[in-house]
Amino acid sequence: MTIKKVELHVHLDGSLKPSLYSKIKNISESDAKNILIAKPKCHDLNDYLTKFSEPVSVMQSRESLYLVASSLCNDLLEDNCIYAEIRFAPNKHTSVLSLDEVVDSVLKGMRSTKLKSNILLCLMRGDSKEDNKKVIDLAYKYLNKGVVGIDLAGAEKIYPTRDYEELFAYAASQGIPFTIHAGEASGPRSIMDAIEFGAKRIGHGVRALESQECLNLIKEKNITLEVCPTSNIQTNIYDDIKSHPLKKLYDMGINVCINTDNRTVSNVTLSQEYVNVQRELLLTNEELYNMNVMAIEASFLSFNEKQELLNELNSE
Ligand SMILES: [Zn+2]
Repeated sequence: MTIKKVELHVHLDGSLKPSLYSKIKNISESDAKNILIAKPKCHDLNDYLTKFSEPVSVMQSRESLYLVASSLCNDLLEDNCIYAEIRFAPNKHTSVLSLDEVVDSVLKGMRSTKLKSNILLCLMRGDSKEDNKKVIDLAYKYLNKGVVGIDLAGAEKIYPTRDYEELFAYAASQGIPFTIHAGEASGPRSIMDAIEFGAKRIGHGVRALESQECLNLIKEKNITLEVCPTSNIQTNIYDDIKSHPLKKLYDMGINVCINTDNRTVSNVTLSQEYVNVQRELLLTNEELYNMNVMAIEASFLSFNEKQELLNELNSE
């Protein structure tokens, strides 16, 4: 789809290209796809998350991190993406490398392409407080030097958002912007906790619809939901795109933007995601444009950078 787009929620490890993985492992591309792509309908989020151990296992060298990052940025450029915030959990890539080497390698890969992009570093649900704190310190070190914020990812139902209050208070005290995966495997309480911590965006957040109080809080605090329709179908929150609440949330005046979550695990491009929601939810081009404006406003860029990006969105 030729419309210009912004992607705020895409995981590096979940977007390892099957063709690249097949080269690294010396296997066929169809075998690579079988290993990396999740079923169109998983049992739940935990089932979907099992697909991440394999890509992470091969993303342990400077070279592989560089290649995965550059190939993702090139794919996004092909998708007419004009800006992306790419996320990953640095602690997952340190079997050989240091945290600094991990971030440097990914950044070099991203900067080898023409795509304007930045990194969000993920804290992981289930990791120790010490390990997650190291990621916050890493984000602070690279803040506005390629890293623009942090995130919390992983098994939401097993490790509730509330358990991470102290870590996000620490991040907030350092002035690090953050988004949090919430309202995906768990309900509105998880979203409200994330907003109370100071999250400016929510990864998914679609289950806000289960609570008027939560919807009111999202509006009052001007929070943007990073919606990932295909991923939500896979993790079994909704039966199909037709029953996805993206348009409903938009019509309620809530800030939403469209994202892939994981180009490979979810087997979807950003363009396909747009085509699917346009076909099934009858979104107009104007509505899709408005969602990109919302994405730019919710990005962790500076005021001037947002203005530049808006100009680019509006140019021919
Ligand atoms: Zn995600």
